[in-house]
Amino acid sequence: MNGRLNVPFPANEPVLSYAPGSYEKKALKARILEMRSKEADIPLHIGGREIRTGKKGDCRPPHDHASLLGHYHKGGPKEIRDAVDAALKARREWAATPWHVRASIFLKAAELLAGDWRWTLNAATLLCQSKNVHQAEIDSACEIIDFYRFNPYFMQKIYEEQPLSSRGVWNYLEYRPLEGFVFAVTPFNFTSIAANLPTAPVLMGNTVVWKPASSTVYTAHTLMQLWKAAGLPDGVINMVTGSAAEISQTVLGHPQLAGVHFTGSTSVFQELWATVGTGIRNYRTYPRLVGETGGKDFIVAHASADFDALAAALVRGAFEYQGQKCSAASRAYVPDSMWKKLKARLGDELETVRMGPPEDFRNFVNAVIDRPAFETIRGYIEHGRKAKSETKLVFGGKCDDSKGYFIEPTIFEAKDPQARLMREEVFGPVLTIYVYPEKRYDQALQLCDRTSSYALTGAVFATDRRAIQRAFEALTHAAGNFYINDKPTGAVVGQQPFGGARASGTNDKAGAMTNLLRWTSPRAVKETFDPAKDYRYPFLAES
Ligand code: NAD
Repeated sequence: MNGRLNVPFPANEPVLSYAPGSYEKKALKARILEMRSKEADIPLHIGGREIRTGKKGDCRPPHDHASLLGHYHKGGPKEIRDAVDAALKARREWAATPWHVRASIFLKAAELLAGDWRWTLNAATLLCQSKNVHQAEIDSACEIIDFYRFNPYFMQKIYEEQPLSSRGVWNYLEYRPLEGFVFAVTPFNFTSIAANLPTAPVLMGNTVVWKPASSTVYTAHTLMQLWKAAGLPDGVINMVTGSAAEISQTVLGHPQLAGVHFTGSTSVFQELWATVGTGIRNYRTYPRLVGETGGKDFIVAHASADFDALAAALVRGAFEYQGQKCSAASRAYVPDSMWKKLKARLGDELETVRMGPPEDFRNFVNAVIDRPAFETIRGYIEHGRKAKSETKLVFGGKCDDSKGYFIEPTIFEAKDPQARLMREEVFGPVLTIYVYPEKRYDQALQLCDRTSSYALTGAVFATDRRAIQRAFEALTHAAGNFYINDKPTGAVVGQQPFGGARASGTNDKAGAMTNLLRWTSPRAVKETFDPAKDYRYPFLAES
């Protein structure tokens, strides 16, 4: 192929409204019914083959745990080893595939998803992860499409980055894939993360062993089908399910592990890192470790904040997708001069919030992902109720798992700014608010910076420009994604590259060039057209 190609300039996929009477509403409702009417039988995907082991796990909607979406087959040590072998086998051919062909596959996947596949992925996400239609649309349609349009463009920009050449010499960088395979491990809460973590290294020429979260294998399977339909060759992504510990033990112990692309909790990433560290002498190359992990995301309000905007940001930021976004606002700092009015407003707003299954589009809040999550969140709410010197329940707090895992949007007021609910990630619909004396804004900023070990997202609400600047400076390292007068959730690919530091991750920024750079190992090449023919330099002659 001769020619310097340009990847089509990317643009963000428009978010469909699903308003009453719209085409998209009809199409999605029909696909939901169709998928609900069948029970899926989900295999492992290894080297292009569908493997059914007979050891099965259930896929159930979190909002209706008595019903079944299907079941998936679990792998054991043999399947895990086979998946690594398949990735290594596919490596040479995939690495040699021209970059524009790799790009085309994902550009095609984006177009498929912008068409009829949109209803399949959105229906799967809505049913399997209990997301309302808007949350599914911005995740499993728009964000994935954006990843697949922007990442090829960023790949091209990386490849364009070349060194200077002096006279008689041509220097260049060849952006090799890593030497080995990449292990992608994805969380339950975003289909787009499941869609991006295996494919970002793949786009750069790597092959992957992928372990999705067990609660979302149903959605993961639809992604495997989408990639196949877009033309991804066999063995480039190999999907394994089963015991997380068993899978990671085998995969991380392999000498050809070249990278880990992880999103999930801080403790699991730290465990993976420790395992790689312990085995560091056994690898052929230093594995790249990329992890985006937990958060304790904040909203700080200054006395000059726009009251309506602040109230809307608190409700959306804390309770959309049941607070199960790594970026969800889970602590807030509000001046005492505003608290009484804000409390009344939040109460009024929460009365209007409907909770129930996502198939009924009128529900804003749906179920949390599974029983362990339900129990963990309920435990935090119980703690918040009982620890009277720390926190006081203001709204919500009811938990009902009779039909699905439903937890009411819950607000606590913190009496102690260091309360457990101000420090620890709850990962559910629980917001804790500390009311500070209006004159002690700078101290509130210091508290916000030092209270939690995380640093993922955060927001400041103020109309006073100096107050914004003070927050900007005091909170420099408190958030990898910092918002001014906006909620701390909803990052868009190509607009707000996403990721945090401190205990929140390696901050490589999903959906940005910086992430793709981690999946390539450049080779610097120098070609000299007229090389020296004598080792002696002129200075060696005395006169
Ligand atoms: P999790 O850590 O429980 O699971 C993440 C993945 O790791 C799953 O696939 C799980 O099966 C796997 N896993 C668990 N134990 C493992 C082990 N010992 N070895 C290998 N893999 C293992 O997280 P989750 O509940 O799926 O997701 C919620 C967490 O993810 C929250 O902490 C949230 O903040 C975080 N998250 C962060 C971001 C971000 O960009 N920073 C985005 C989404 C979610």
